[in-house]
Amino acid sequence: MRCRCCTSHGIAVAGRCVNFSRNWPRHPFPESYRRNICPSRSTRSRSSSDSNGNGPKGTSAKRSRGLGSVTIAGSCIEHPATTSPCIGFETDMAIQWITGTLRNRKVWSDGLFTLTIHCPGVLEFEPGQFLQVGLPLPEKHLHRPYSVASPHGDDLEFFIVRVENGELTPKLWDLEIGQEIDVSEKATGGFTLSHTPRAKVLWLLGTGTGLAPYIAMLRDPKIWDTYERIVLVHGVRFLADLAYTDELERYSKAYDGRLIFVPVVSRALAAHGFQGRITQAIESGKLEQIAGERICPETSAVMMCGNPQMLDDVEQLLNDRGMRKHRRNEPGHYVVERYW
Ligand SMILES: Cc1cc2nc3c(=O)[nH]c(=O)nc-3n(C[C@H](O)[C@H](O)[C@H](O)COP(=O)(O)OP(=O)(O)OC[C@H]3O[C@@H](n4cnc5c(N)ncnc54)[C@H](O)[C@@H]3O)c2cc1C
Repeated sequence: MRCRCCTSHGIAVAGRCVNFSRNWPRHPFPESYRRNICPSRSTRSRSSSDSNGNGPKGTSAKRSRGLGSVTIAGSCIEHPATTSPCIGFETDMAIQWITGTLRNRKVWSDGLFTLTIHCPGVLEFEPGQFLQVGLPLPEKHLHRPYSVASPHGDDLEFFIVRVENGELTPKLWDLEIGQEIDVSEKATGGFTLSHTPRAKVLWLLGTGTGLAPYIAMLRDPKIWDTYERIVLVHGVRFLADLAYTDELERYSKAYDGRLIFVPVVSRALAAHGFQGRITQAIESGKLEQIAGERICPETSAVMMCGNPQMLDDVEQLLNDRGMRKHRRNEPGHYVVERYW
């Protein structure tokens, strides 16, 4: 679902256009969205809770009441995320919360961490999708979208960076094992393999925590059944920010070299990768040399996620090579996930 004021831009989160959230409310959604009416059929969608706010029986998760909303996390239940134009659209009012418990906290470097949250009851989702994670504060419910860094299960991982002066992330950083944390029941987002073109080689480009959706995808068999080779490029500032490297090296060995992992480090020497930025690695031809593959319309599908500047620059480089953004009605070569 796109903001009607900037239809060429990205998806919407929590009822706001990601790209124009600072301008809210100058970029409101059409009235039908705000009234929680699915535009596909103009039918009102229903809450998964009964009138008491209780969810389906048989799960141990606690569900919050959802303020009498009529949608499941904003998307019409008759048009699930993979087919509905409601992708990524959520109204704050409509989110059904599951109260999870922090099970594990792994610190990769100062401010860079993975939270494992025990939250049974989250509905089935596709690797690459995101959930809302948040904390109920006295004055408001503070939450943000986070790509899930693991496939669906009772324990979900989130790979997070503490943003200086950020509202939520310093609070997430301070959480201790056993503390409660809210997770939305339903994942959304179209940054998934189902929405990515088929090709011989899949290029996964990510900066910082933009690695998260790829970890979830690599842990799922689908990616290995779909692409012959996968080149994962992780751009960071310092060597210490290269998270999940042991796991990536394990895949590389287990899948007989079908995964090529290229660290790109801007402020230090990367032993087996590239020193600089992802854009420089592409422009110089060094990335293709390391990977032994070309980035071209004939053989490549590209996913990219993270820092908006990197996304804009790489999009331009790919366009110059005759590649186009992949859309549902207009097949192309690359898909993009913007974090801010
Ligand atoms: C679809 C989607 C998926 C996301 N997945 C992740 C994820 O897996 N991990 C994650 O850490 N963040 C992710 N984010 C960003 C996340 O939602 C928050 O914006 C971020 O955690 C900052 O929250 P905050 O309240 O601390 O900062 P705020 O007070 O909301 O400040 C926002 C500012 O923080 C900066 N910022 C936001 N995200 C990042 C980031 N990842 N790295 C560096 N600076 C950032 C930007 O300058 C942004 O303008 C995702 C965002 C979207 C839209």
